Amino acid sequence: MEDRQKAQAMLERVGEFKSEPLTNFSVPENAAAFEAALAKVRGQFGEKHPLVIGGEEIWTEATLVTTNPAHPDQVVGIFSKADGELAKQAVEAAEAAFATWSRTPATERAEILLRAAALMRERRHELSAWMVYEVGKNWVEADADTVEAIDFLEYYARQMLKLELVEVYQTPGELDTLHYIPLGVGVVIPPWNFPLAITVGMSSAAIVAGNAIVLKPASDSPAIAWAYFRILQDAGLPKGVCNFLSGPGAIAGEVLVDHPKTRFIAFTGSKEVGLRINERAARPQPGQRWIKRTILEMGGKDAVVVDETADLDAAARDIILSAFGFQGQKCSAGSRAIIVDKVYDALLEKVAEQARKILVIGDPDKREHYTGPVVSKSQFRTVTEYIEIGKQEGRLLYGGKVLDRDGYFIEPTIFADVAPDARIAQEEIFGPVLTISKTADWKEAIDIANGTEFGLTGAYYSADPERIAYAKQEFHVGNLYINRKCTGALVGIHPFGGFNMSGTDSKAGGPDYLLLFTQAKSIGQKLP
Ligand code: NDP
Repeated sequence: MEDRQKAQAMLERVGEFKSEPLTNFSVPENAAAFEAALAKVRGQFGEKHPLVIGGEEIWTEATLVTTNPAHPDQVVGIFSKADGELAKQAVEAAEAAFATWSRTPATERAEILLRAAALMRERRHELSAWMVYEVGKNWVEADADTVEAIDFLEYYARQMLKLELVEVYQTPGELDTLHYIPLGVGVVIPPWNFPLAITVGMSSAAIVAGNAIVLKPASDSPAIAWAYFRILQDAGLPKGVCNFLSGPGAIAGEVLVDHPKTRFIAFTGSKEVGLRINERAARPQPGQRWIKRTILEMGGKDAVVVDETADLDAAARDIILSAFGFQGQKCSAGSRAIIVDKVYDALLEKVAEQARKILVIGDPDKREHYTGPVVSKSQFRTVTEYIEIGKQEGRLLYGGKVLDRDGYFIEPTIFADVAPDARIAQEEIFGPVLTISKTADWKEAIDIANGTEFGLTGAYYSADPERIAYAKQEFHVGNLYINRKCTGALVGIHPFGGFNMSGTDSKAGGPDYLLLFTQAKSIGQKLP
């Protein structure tokens, strides 16, 4: 069978993409299974892990140690630490693997993603448990991260098959075709905050499109990336197609980005690092034969706008969920609420009430706790500094106290009456801090929402169809939500990525995403 026919047959066999359901933890068996996974992962604390380059395990003397942010004396994993030399070797190993992987039929590549998805389902609670312990996600957030990862695998496998089926018009006397071929060696650099979903999303898209990659996990979350890497190995991914290279971004990351054989960089993380990668990648290196492509997803300062026609109870609840899910450490977090004058005081009261109800602080390995620690000591310092700035720039409505606890716990904190141009309303804090600003009317509220350098997500709460129509056009963000929270994008349903300094709007989990990892070759063949 021809590749096209094989892709068509496989698409029919696997059927349409369907979102993986979240776990219902109120079912006692599910809760028990999660407890068991937590215990299993605790039993693996402190294990050592190698780099894997070209299928070969490499153990370095220098190590990178990750700890549990709820109990920083607990070592979660010990990882080998790549230096510049090993980073170069990893690029070369990927280049060698690319020669055969790029010629492997799309159906075989897609099969590997589907096998990985099946393994991920089997190990789903274990994967989530790593996130509870290595980055401090609560049960529900960790489960959602794993579900998103499974969705990416299932979705990109199908998207690759669909790309095989793209057709062009025919001119008489010719056979005209278009083929999406891979780019080459890619460097995949994810952040720690969606340590499974984003790692899986960026890397699986690159791999299924026929590229070979170097995966450099974030230094705060290599154990989760390692659990995923093992799944790729178990799913039968050939050696060298994905090389596992834990190590500091500033060293290994830069060598990978600069390497003349690197063809593209898929990055998700802060604006500062993203812009630096963009600049370095633009500079051609001796021996480089292409323009490097960068796929950059960066920060946000996302806003929830509420007008006087909105359902205030729903808005209050969603303001809290948008701002404080995973301690506000989401690029999509609604870290600003912008509320019109007429309902400002009433809504503030409701917001504080919801905060008291929802934001139960404690170890994230206990199901009843919503708010865990922030990821690291440095993140703890940064966020507490911003809280001090907030005390000058706004009126403390909720939280703000120093907690006497082991671990990097920060009390979720809300500042009201914040001027839209205040630092805490403009800079990405990436922690549990919400600013609330008052506006004269709904149009001004949307202007304020648009008034930062970012443009990632946003939510508008209103019952007025005309205003909603205006918001759909004028609220300038990559992911806009109407009358629902601004976090929780679903693969295949809400393709994700932002405008302006939020990145290249690459729309992860959308129909165009794989194109970023391919180049199209058009062939016109004269018929005899
Ligand atoms: P960072 O930018 O600090 O790090 C992201 C990744 O880049 C890490 O793997 C890091 O490695 C690596 N890195 C650091 N320095 C360099 C360098 N000089 N060259 C190459 N790689 C480097 O971000 P965080 O991990 O702290 O993640 C939080 C940020 O991510 C927030 O700004 C958030 O908004 C953004 N984000 C954006 C999303 C989006 O889709 N738009 C989604 C999720 C998060 P190491 O860990 O070793 O330093």
